[in-house]
Amino acid sequence: MRWLILSDIHGNLPALESVLADAKGRCDALLCLGDIVGYGADPNAVTERIRETVPTVIRGNHDRACTGDPTIETFTDLAYSAAMWTRQVLTEENAGYLRSLPAGPIALDGFHIAHGSPRDEDEYVFTRQDAADQFSCLPSHVCFFGHTHVQGGFGLRRGRTWGLAKPDDAEQEAAHTLEPDTCYLVNPGSVGQPRDSDPRASYAIFDGEARTVHFRRVRYDIEAARKKILAAGLHPFLAARLVAGR
Ligand code: ZN
Repeated sequence: MRWLILSDIHGNLPALESVLADAKGRCDALLCLGDIVGYGADPNAVTERIRETVPTVIRGNHDRACTGDPTIETFTDLAYSAAMWTRQVLTEENAGYLRSLPAGPIALDGFHIAHGSPRDEDEYVFTRQDAADQFSCLPSHVCFFGHTHVQGGFGLRRGRTWGLAKPDDAEQEAAHTLEPDTCYLVNPGSVGQPRDSDPRASYAIFDGEARTVHFRRVRYDIEAARKKILAAGLHPFLAARLVAGR
């Protein structure tokens, strides 16, 4: 099975459509690690696209905050105001769908998926030390996670932890073969709000038989997404950061 792995779409419809088009024919099954909404200007259209096309989805902290959960009280001013706007525009049906999403981690076909970390759905895994702290609670050899909006991840074998490279600016893809007797925490990056200094939309494809992960980057109509954010009256920084990729 070849899995298309999406995360952190954040209401960015042009980015999601470009990723789905790029992934067409490359995968057999689709999953999403959460944060479907929050920050972007198309929360309803993105939620509906995910409901139609992605059968396996776990919730992110923004999906909770944008549908009434008190976790919104922990948000920064920027995230809070975007979540309040999203609460007002989400249809009851889409909000109900987002509220129904399960918390991670959940087990799939020989691997796990989580929004933040295998230990806590709201925890960030940014550094090699963060990753090393997680490996003792890894429920299987491979766990996909999101939340940081940074594509890449970590391998761990015999106490050594290393990073997995994402494509550089000139590349569209970086491929990794997963070694036996090694644990992996893998982040597909963010579809709709990358923060790893590359504004292209991010995703990953995991081939469970070949044991490969392909990180991909896709150009999309950033200008369209930027203008929609400004037209919606969301904070201009949310538009600017799409251009900067951070
Ligand atoms: Zn996110």
